[in-house]
Amino acid sequence: MFVGETGYSSDDLSPARRSSVSFSLHMLRTTRHDKRHFVPDIHHHASEGENGLKIILAKQAGFCFGVKRATQMAFEAAAKGGKTCTLGPIIHSPQVVQRLEEMGVKVLSTLTDLDSGAIIIRSHGVASEELQEARRKELEIVDATCPFVKKAQEHVKSLSQAGYDVVVVGDADHPEVQGIVSYAKGPVYVVGYGEEAAKLKITGKIGIVAQTTQSFENLKNVVLECLVKGSEIRVFNTICDATAVRQEEAKELAKRVDCMIVIGGYNSANTTRLAQVCAELQPRTYHIETAQQLNSTWFEGVGTVGVTAGASTPKWVIDEVLEHIERIDKDTTHFDSSRVC
Ligand code: SF4
Repeated sequence: MFVGETGYSSDDLSPARRSSVSFSLHMLRTTRHDKRHFVPDIHHHASEGENGLKIILAKQAGFCFGVKRATQMAFEAAAKGGKTCTLGPIIHSPQVVQRLEEMGVKVLSTLTDLDSGAIIIRSHGVASEELQEARRKELEIVDATCPFVKKAQEHVKSLSQAGYDVVVVGDADHPEVQGIVSYAKGPVYVVGYGEEAAKLKITGKIGIVAQTTQSFENLKNVVLECLVKGSEIRVFNTICDATAVRQEEAKELAKRVDCMIVIGGYNSANTTRLAQVCAELQPRTYHIETAQQLNSTWFEGVGTVGVTAGASTPKWVIDEVLEHIERIDKDTTHFDSSRVC
């Protein structure tokens, strides 16, 4: 049996208890230390299967602070009953979205057809116009926007009001960035890299914020380019390093094991990136969404398997994968002597 603290403590969302969600916010881990000084914590929790397969679960696997908070708010709203919808999927986890749908929560792409009930705002926020429309329609608003994303939105608004041209470092197609940009009241530009910032035709007062999942290096490069152009620069480091922390820890784990399992939605950018960084170090890396996708042949000749999960992967999905790997180990007698444990 696998036992271990994994940093996502969302037991409340297990099937048996999902109608009475009660997270302890003091247990949530916010990791906003500067990642330039980040030292990966490799004190993972491990278990050993019946045939000696060692399973190591990354300490930071699964929900980050903002996703955990949003999921909690969504399940609490759903448990109240009544007409409840989310504007876009609440988080990038098809399993969570499906559970909410089973509780009657619909996913909408716009507010056009909603005239009453509650609307849940996803963790990476929505455009300010959409919030205004929800207020205008007098909908009950359950704002699950991550506080770190909210901060970036507020900085854009205040920079813009103070007469700065705003530069947002990030992916222009990402809903979080589209939401952040919508808070500008004047000129606003989205740039992915320093090279793009170099092409901007801006001068004078420049204010800079970043999409929360950007790398510090990228933000720094954009700031350097803007320094050449502007007469006054204000920078807000709005990067949340939950993603970077997961990646650094996963890299350390991938180097130490014979096989890596990365769990999370295929539509989750941070899980996909997690799988990529692991695959660069461990060719036997598999990205799965659910336990049913595990294949026993992946574990042939494997002594130690590492498991990690994206920031939007719920605990129950991780638990099912761990239990499934243990079952595969139990049912298998041919693991060879190359075990590391
Ligand atoms: S990764 Fe995004 S949702 Fe999670 S804590 Fe950071 S900003 Fe919030």
